Amino acid sequence: MKKLFASFLSLSLALVSCSLLQPKPTPTSTPPTAPLETPWDDRSIFEAGLVESEQPTLAQLDGASVYHLDFEIADDLFHVTGAEEVRYTNTETVSLNEVHFRLFPNILGGKMTVSNLTVDGQSVIPKYSLQNSLMVVPLSKPLEPGQSITLSMQYAVTVPQTVDLNYGVLAYFEDVLALAHAYPMICVYDDEGWNAEIPPQSGDVTYADTAFFLVRVTAPKELTLVMSGREVSRAEAGQNQVVVVANGPARDFYLAASPEYEEVFQTEGEVTIRSFAPEDLSGGAEFALEIASKAIRVFNERYAPYPYTEFDIVATPTLALGIEYPGLIAIADRIYDVDDEYGGAPTNVYLESTVVHEVGHQWFYGLVGDDQLDDPWLDESLTQFVTLQYYEDEYGADGAEGFRSSLESRWARVGNADIPIGLPVADYSGVEYSAIVYGRGPLFFVALKEEMGPEVFDDFLKKYAETFSWEIATPGGMQSLAEEQCSCDLQPIFEKWVYPP
Ligand SMILES: [Zn+2]
Repeated sequence: MKKLFASFLSLSLALVSCSLLQPKPTPTSTPPTAPLETPWDDRSIFEAGLVESEQPTLAQLDGASVYHLDFEIADDLFHVTGAEEVRYTNTETVSLNEVHFRLFPNILGGKMTVSNLTVDGQSVIPKYSLQNSLMVVPLSKPLEPGQSITLSMQYAVTVPQTVDLNYGVLAYFEDVLALAHAYPMICVYDDEGWNAEIPPQSGDVTYADTAFFLVRVTAPKELTLVMSGREVSRAEAGQNQVVVVANGPARDFYLAASPEYEEVFQTEGEVTIRSFAPEDLSGGAEFALEIASKAIRVFNERYAPYPYTEFDIVATPTLALGIEYPGLIAIADRIYDVDDEYGGAPTNVYLESTVVHEVGHQWFYGLVGDDQLDDPWLDESLTQFVTLQYYEDEYGADGAEGFRSSLESRWARVGNADIPIGLPVADYSGVEYSAIVYGRGPLFFVALKEEMGPEVFDDFLKKYAETFSWEIATPGGMQSLAEEQCSCDLQPIFEKWVYPP
């Protein structure tokens, strides 16, 4: 996620566009049903969605959950009904007596109910807590490490028609449906056990393991659907369209839809980048496309190849500047008017830094996961740092000065206080969270780079992306890997910046 930061002087950029309007695929005559009947262990349907160097991953990630979601968006565009079937494997070292799911709409201003829950075909009554955002499914016998079960349920979601809570990640507002975390999502089981809490308003909402998603969406046909993953098939059924996507490996599934979206696209290597916005924001949509393309090139080179063959950018009325999802970013439509000013600076300054930041999350949130509620610095501070790195690589040290000074002014909002960057979101006040995690945090990585030496540091970040690919990184894991790379003791610098005393 990216919150508003103090304005900074921009690099002005000529808008170069080599984008084209993408023709819509021709629908076939009957709605496809087969993809959702794909056997649990058959991952071949995901292959075409991954760049070549990533495809071997499909033979790894043993025991990753597989979700089959089948849902319908009603004509009013704020009611969703669905069916979920998910194969869950115990990849822990202990036996499990329960499986925990998040029902996030219940704390995002909307409502989610689940019915007809079964485990391996047997009816089960779940328990609810955390304001009905946690559904605990008891198991009739312990699930041993390595064993799998299949859970099946139906669900219904009412989407709020405001953007008041959590930046409007889940909302039907101004003719845009933003459908985030709108299916029952399995929690992470870690050293805290089943890890779930109510997310504070200021940070990201989810903490999720890598999984695979096969999703069939039925929706009014005048909607343009923008989704995580790659389209597998498309058909028409009466007034509806029926679209199937394969998304994975990924930590979530996201959908945005509007009858107003127009699309432009271009390719960067093996990746097709698609940008969606209403027609009157086409200047911003094209600019975002150019920036995303450059950022993917920079981060491919520096960290690891972007894993998917598709990357989508979509304009929504979110109150954050931008929000990251697997293979997709949502950007605030209010920063799309590139000829205008926003917050005292040219709008394209915000649009560029926001798009680059959200693209950076594809590596640090997507590829390398973390506990976004307990260790937000691992994704947010690092993503701010890689944004600075993008400015340096694209425009040189002088060109990066504007962004760098924006980080310093952010930290200055709390008087450059030595508040640790490594606290949970809930331990910061709103102004501290922004100043420390988004301002002081990236400056820690600048200091770490100096301490380790630039080359060793660059190798370390590459190694970090490789080591924790599709896994969940921890602060301790990051520190040990850095120490291994530099053969030095980094405890003092981590104590100075990261850890609470
Ligand atoms: Zn972010």
